Amino acid sequence: MVDSVYRTRSLGVAAEGLPDQYADGRAARVWQLYIGDTRSRTAEYRSWLVALLRQHRCRSVLDVACGTGVDSIMLLEEGFLVTSVDASDKMLKYALKERWERRKEEPFDRWVIEEANWLTLEKDLEKPGDGFDAVICLGNSFAHLPDFKGDQSDHKLALRNIASMVRPGGVLVIDHRNYDHILATGCAPPGKNIYYKSDLTKDITTSVLLVNNKAHMVTLDYTVQVPATEAGASPELSASLQQVSALVLPTPAGGFHSPAERCLPGEVPAQHPG
Ligand code: SAH
Repeated sequence: MVDSVYRTRSLGVAAEGLPDQYADGRAARVWQLYIGDTRSRTAEYRSWLVALLRQHRCRSVLDVACGTGVDSIMLLEEGFLVTSVDASDKMLKYALKERWERRKEEPFDRWVIEEANWLTLEKDLEKPGDGFDAVICLGNSFAHLPDFKGDQSDHKLALRNIASMVRPGGVLVIDHRNYDHILATGCAPPGKNIYYKSDLTKDITTSVLLVNNKAHMVTLDYTVQVPATEAGASPELSASLQQVSALVLPTPAGGFHSPAERCLPGEVPAQHPG
């Protein structure tokens, strides 16, 4: 039932399985603009989360909705052993890039990043021994899972799978924010979201989809003012063979050789068309 009304604004289409709402890569590309300064975001809950994890002697942490890796990176910087998963390879691309760039720092070198879906988590991710000391699902991520069958069975399955990754006595942190306010008022609370707090956000338009007069899906459209890029930054299109050759094979005098002449002098005659 839900499939026929379920829509994402960016028309992300997954290759298979659960629709990846970030599949077209648009959100991933502008994520940093959307959340604002990473450190000021994580400063909101860093000490609370780190204290909680240390109090429970947690060392290994699984981030089940790592996205571009904001919270995982925060925990790596605090010295935790982090495994990060997400259903969206477009989002994971940014986490993987950061891992590569900081690979010389030991926690980053040990950082495990996998593509995994909460609905198939046990199959997608091998559980280490009894499980992770802690599992986190932050950034209001759990609400991304639609109630496909209308009976919350997918929500229950996802929660069971996520909880199964926690070792006995470990910690599970899931945050779920602002929906009571949205359902009561029809609007996202202005300025209250600790995760997405960029100064560039100009407007948040809230839509609540009712199915049989029951709130079924909330969509938040963010209008973000992106700063103008440097004038003249876009390169000119080089299309003809001569233009491309000039990029690769300029002669000292500024003239052109044919590519064949320059690569294999005397062996391959210049041809027309090149
Ligand atoms: N925690 C990150 C990302 C939040 S966006 C942050 O706060 O910046 C929500 C993330 O949940 C997205 O990256 C999305 O791909 C992921 N997600 C949504 N449904 C998922 C599912 N069923 N399984 C795994 N990840 C999912």
